[in-house]
Amino acid sequence: MAGLSDDLRLLADSLVVGVIRLDLELVVRYANPAAHVFAGRPPGTLIGRSLMEAFIDRRIEELAETAGPSGVATGELTLRSAEGLSLVVRARRTADGQVTWLTLEDVSELRRLQRIRSEFVDNLSHELRTPLTNVSLLAETLVRESEAAGEQIPARMRDRINKIEVETGHLVQMVSELLDLARIESGRPMLLLDRVDLGRLAAASVDRLRLFAERQGVQLVVDLPSAGVPPVSGAEERLGQVIINLVHNAVKFSPDGGEVTIRVEDRAPEIVVSVEDRGIGIPRGSQDRVFERFYKVDRARVRGGGTGLGLSIARHVVEGHGGRIWVVSEEGRGSNFSFALPVADPQGTPG
Ligand code: ADP
Repeated sequence: MAGLSDDLRLLADSLVVGVIRLDLELVVRYANPAAHVFAGRPPGTLIGRSLMEAFIDRRIEELAETAGPSGVATGELTLRSAEGLSLVVRARRTADGQVTWLTLEDVSELRRLQRIRSEFVDNLSHELRTPLTNVSLLAETLVRESEAAGEQIPARMRDRINKIEVETGHLVQMVSELLDLARIESGRPMLLLDRVDLGRLAAASVDRLRLFAERQGVQLVVDLPSAGVPPVSGAEERLGQVIINLVHNAVKFSPDGGEVTIRVEDRAPEIVVSVEDRGIGIPRGSQDRVFERFYKVDRARVRGGGTGLGLSIARHVVEGHGGRIWVVSEEGRGSNFSFALPVADPQGTPG
């Protein structure tokens, strides 16, 4: 009746993954000991029960129903039982549709560790942010003062002060990316309530990086349509961070004396923002991968380091706004990172 040979039953009985075999009516015909543990039921008591009776949770049944003939369905859910187990449930139905196999994997410990890791990163970045912001402001002041003092300060010392300012800029950027990552991982939804003028935002973001670019010997050029661009709906601060990440990278990967152009275009029904540099470029094979978390093309060639998070955060934010982000690049010639966002509905409620 269970449809399991003795051999297979022995194997299934020893698994820590829950295994359940359901008939056409989604009634349990076999369940291994792990499945009983997850359901919080004594051994052998699941057979003959419906999934709803077994787990007192509609979602597992819904998942099993979703898997059509030869189909597969996967979902993660937290049981409302005392332990609150997080389970990844996979349903797979046979080609004749008669039998559905369910596997249940307990990922509670993994999720707990991920939560601890993100809380740790969040707390640490918060702690680092205040002293770093102060150091960064002090470094900026030092640069200004040493420039004003001119020849009174030896050139070598001025050069060192400039370097401190640049490196502090990298640290501030890294901490801000780690904080962004923690916010994204916390799963809090992004509120798209602002009406954002991307032209104005691009100009403001570029202004924030002007000093940093100057120190790297890179010139920033902003190219905006004179008539301005229609607004997009979004989270202004997040979109500003995207532009900053892209410009920061473009400067970081540009040679001394390089130029970075930030362009905003009205390409109805979208607004396109692009950041173009004539820096080291990205090899073809890496161009899709640069948007992955922690991915770096080549650790050795970076000046100033980085977390490898900036572009994955940028992609997350842009896609969260219903937009797209992409790169066109040629090694040795430069890169052009662009993102497109839909123009806000004129009838839409402004933020
Ligand atoms: P980070 O810059 O902190 O390393 P990012 O996610 O911003 O992380 O970028 C990932 C990788 O993509 C970088 O390490 C670099 O190898 C590559 N990259 C990003 N922007 C550029 C660019 N403008 N020119 C060349 N390479 C780039």
